[in-house]
Amino acid sequence: MHYVGITTGSCGNCYVFHSCHDTIIIDDGVTFRKITEKMADHGIPLESIRALFLTHLHPDHSKGVGVLQRKLGIPVYMSREAMERNGSVMMKQKIEIDRVNAYDFGDTIDVPGFSVTPFPVSHDSDGAAGYAFQSDGVRCFLMTDTGIIPEEAWQLASRASVKFIESNYDDEMLRNGPYPEFLKARIYGSRGHLSNREAVSFARQTSRQGDSIYFVHLSANNNAPEIVKELAVKEIPSGIFCHVCSRGELFEGFADGEE
Ligand SMILES: [Zn+2]
Ligand SMILES: [Zn+2]
Repeated sequence: MHYVGITTGSCGNCYVFHSCHDTIIIDDGVTFRKITEKMADHGIPLESIRALFLTHLHPDHSKGVGVLQRKLGIPVYMSREAMERNGSVMMKQKIEIDRVNAYDFGDTIDVPGFSVTPFPVSHDSDGAAGYAFQSDGVRCFLMTDTGIIPEEAWQLASRASVKFIESNYDDEMLRNGPYPEFLKARIYGSRGHLSNREAVSFARQTSRQGDSIYFVHLSANNNAPEIVKELAVKEIPSGIFCHVCSRGELFEGFADGEE
């Protein structure tokens, strides 16, 4: 599997996974130009896109969806709750609701080349989801924008060899930082974001030798890549590959299936 994180953070989030002849995208918070240019740069054909899965409907994850639907006719998947409770948000973002496929948590969605298992996360956007998925013997896990780690994430992450985990804020920086108290409370809260401490500890407990972990969705104001790196080096055993993605960074990787 070949994967490309086109960008991550509050400036936009978009992850592309390509396996043999098939591609899925998770989140599209970038412009049509950016996604098409970056996919071309990395040799992933647009015609190979089979589906777009959304974690939730905050614009940094979904503002490109409407254009992608109209220009490429790609099937979009989100949770039933996200679809039913975000009508006005989707209208504003020009997402075509009649071309959205709603799933229920507990379903596994098979699209050509990929088998995808969504799980609910806890965020201030109704019906928010994380995803575990596999293709060609590679299992991946992606969890972003969640205030707490949901129960089922532990097992799903433990089975995956490639993981993308939100590491949004450093406790100290958020506490002492410039945000007003209500905003701090939102970020700390159970429907906010994951701290570095929570993310690194979760990664350590769910990973084994040979796994790859990408820490994503770092806050621009309440975090710094160096802080996450330092914590990851301290806590995560060598032999597990860790990469901390700076805000807006493009990154890519390759993974082979296990027998
Ligand atoms: Zn976000
Ligand atoms: Zn969000």
